[in-house]
Amino acid sequence: MSNRFLSSTAKNLQPSGIRRFFDLAAGMEGVISLGVGEPDFVTSWKIREASILSLEEGYTSYTANPGILSLRKEISKYYRTKYSLSYDPNSEVLVTVGASQGIDLAIRAVVNPGEEVIVIRPSFVSYLPTIELAGGIPVPIETTAETDFRPTADAIRHAVTDRTKAVMICSPSNPTGTVLNQSSLQEIADVCIEKDLLVITDEIYAELSYDEAHVSIASLSKMRERTIVINGFSKGFAMTGWRLGFALGPDDILQAMLKIHQYTTMCASTTAQHGALEALRNGWEDVAHMRKHYQRRRNYIVRSFQEMGLSCHMPGGAFYAFPSIKSTGFSSEEFAEKLLHEEKVAVVPGNVFGPSGEGHIRCSYASSMEQLQEAVRRMEQFIARHSTQEPF
Ligand code: PMP
Repeated sequence: MSNRFLSSTAKNLQPSGIRRFFDLAAGMEGVISLGVGEPDFVTSWKIREASILSLEEGYTSYTANPGILSLRKEISKYYRTKYSLSYDPNSEVLVTVGASQGIDLAIRAVVNPGEEVIVIRPSFVSYLPTIELAGGIPVPIETTAETDFRPTADAIRHAVTDRTKAVMICSPSNPTGTVLNQSSLQEIADVCIEKDLLVITDEIYAELSYDEAHVSIASLSKMRERTIVINGFSKGFAMTGWRLGFALGPDDILQAMLKIHQYTTMCASTTAQHGALEALRNGWEDVAHMRKHYQRRRNYIVRSFQEMGLSCHMPGGAFYAFPSIKSTGFSSEEFAEKLLHEEKVAVVPGNVFGPSGEGHIRCSYASSMEQLQEAVRRMEQFIARHSTQEPF
């Protein structure tokens, strides 16, 4: 009815493929969801308590636009300690409303209309729309399980034009769980230096790296000056609902992001910032505890997929397994819909993350071991049933 008021930008924006799937699952009872991309843990009590205390003490006003200085100092210390990277808390650290806002600000601060941003796919569903909303043009590079979903330098070089501004990377990756190790990052860095490109690196799953220490591309030689780091508290600290993240980068870029932030958002939630301060100061044992659980679940679910006959590469981080379902003969959407209706297990069809995700499903293992075991039992049944009807 009120359609005529809508902007063409809003009209052209496609609804998220993940949402459509959740709407299907929402009306059903007894569904085990391996669909959602968020921790099953509740934020640790000491973090919640610190926020409650801040309210009791009357911290209910706006904070400084870039965030509480003590929090920015802790964030700066975190990157100095973990990655030997130095960011000035006064001008190179910005506290954002989740990593989501950090990504949006980074893109809006650097992309002119018509400029291109290279995105490694399969990728998190927000990247393409966020680039488009800024007037930019996303240029996807598709990667496959055969190369562990790592982009090659040649593929990136090939995608660069005279309109390319930046490359977006995500490690550990949603949806594949792939961790870009030092040598993969160096390949990307070499092209970015050669072609004078910026890198926007989404490190939201950095604390959920299981097999090796996470490397930030910003820490490679000559990269700090051309990298915007996006990170946050949602995943590692199990704080999705708090909506708190941060961005780090060279001061001229961070100051441009701050300008947009102060006009559009003022500042991130004061209460959440007090919790985040406690998280960085005293939350590390809980992070290690959750990481240990995710790692155990990852090993279990990947082994189970392999035993079912689905090939599944070992994801080095995040909390997603991305098995291939090509051997079933179903498309990703068919597989996910049938599995939901026949066995009441919700997974996300891989094609929503880009064409190279077709033939895969994304299964989040941020669920209790009991839930995972039941989901595996149901999937085994599903695979066994369909393999007798349609030989793989
Ligand atoms: N980046 C990636 C890769 C994600 O998976 C998510 C959450 N699903 C985000 C960013 C957004 O995180 P936040 O809750 O901090 O906005």
